[in-house]
Amino acid sequence: MAEQAPFPLRPYRCELCRAWHLTSRTKGMRLPRFETERRRTQKQTAS
Ligand SMILES: [Zn+2]
Repeated sequence: MAEQAPFPLRPYRCELCRAWHLTSRTKGMRLPRFETERRRTQKQTAS
């Protein structure tokens, strides 16, 4: 429960320090590959 943020945080690649940061902004933000993979696998039910 504690891991659940009140708003969806998504990692993004920072252009300045080339590190991954978290942001709550979704406008024009692209999900990194590992994040899309994670959500895709979450959608599907393991069979
Ligand atoms: Zn940065």
